[in-house]
Amino acid sequence: MTSVAEDNVTRGPEKWAMASWLDDEVLPRFEVLDTRSAQGRLDIRAKTVFVSDLVLAHGHACDGLLRGVWAMRALFDVAFGDAPIDRSDLLVVSKNSPCLGDVGAYLTGGRARFGTHRLDDTLGVGYQLQQLSSGRAWQVREESGFFPALIVAWEAALLREGLSEGDMSELLAVHEAAQWDWVREHLLTSAPEDHYFARELEHLELPAPLYEARRSDTVNRLVQAPVTLSGPDDPTVINPVADERTLASWAARYQHGPDND
Ligand SMILES: [Zn+2]
Repeated sequence: MTSVAEDNVTRGPEKWAMASWLDDEVLPRFEVLDTRSAQGRLDIRAKTVFVSDLVLAHGHACDGLLRGVWAMRALFDVAFGDAPIDRSDLLVVSKNSPCLGDVGAYLTGGRARFGTHRLDDTLGVGYQLQQLSSGRAWQVREESGFFPALIVAWEAALLREGLSEGDMSELLAVHEAAQWDWVREHLLTSAPEDHYFARELEHLELPAPLYEARRSDTVNRLVQAPVTLSGPDDPTVINPVADERTLASWAARYQHGPDND
């Protein structure tokens, strides 16, 4: 295992955010679906989200991000099995934690500004998930006591006023090391379902939204692909036919404008 100091020296600017012992190839990953464009339909091709993608979006690797990854993997395994995660069709509930909240939003497509990322601090390290089209709901919770009480106590204490600058700089260093030791010794050596327990819910009482607005880039998610041939920038139609006349007739209809029927 390389040390943090060695990582900083030997790994380039594109790589250092993930310590070398955090290996994307063996960490959980997520297959996701999204719509094709701002007004587009659902793209049937899945994309793969790696932990390194979450780290770049969140800003740092941390124990909270990885506990969120373990929780989400356990949750999606129960909810969707091998099927990809349709990020145009989900609402997520999380604690208002910087780390858990970012993982929840990134992997589900839930967003506070559209009312599809709701907050409930009583959830602790866990998530609730609702499939918007069906209303089905699931929940995942971290096993009580899995994360050490001493680190939890320091997480709160290090946010309070009153410690000297000298104490803070020493304690933060030890605290971060304790978090990573726990990740290496307890999280990475366990499967997501070992300590993150997921199940379907009969009913989900949602917390109130922070804000509600129509998410316009998912409105057309269920529109089908053209039957006869593909759009000029749509590669997902099987066996596309080059039919310039038909494409020209679509373009003519478009050129006519939306309000000139
Ligand atoms: Zn974090």
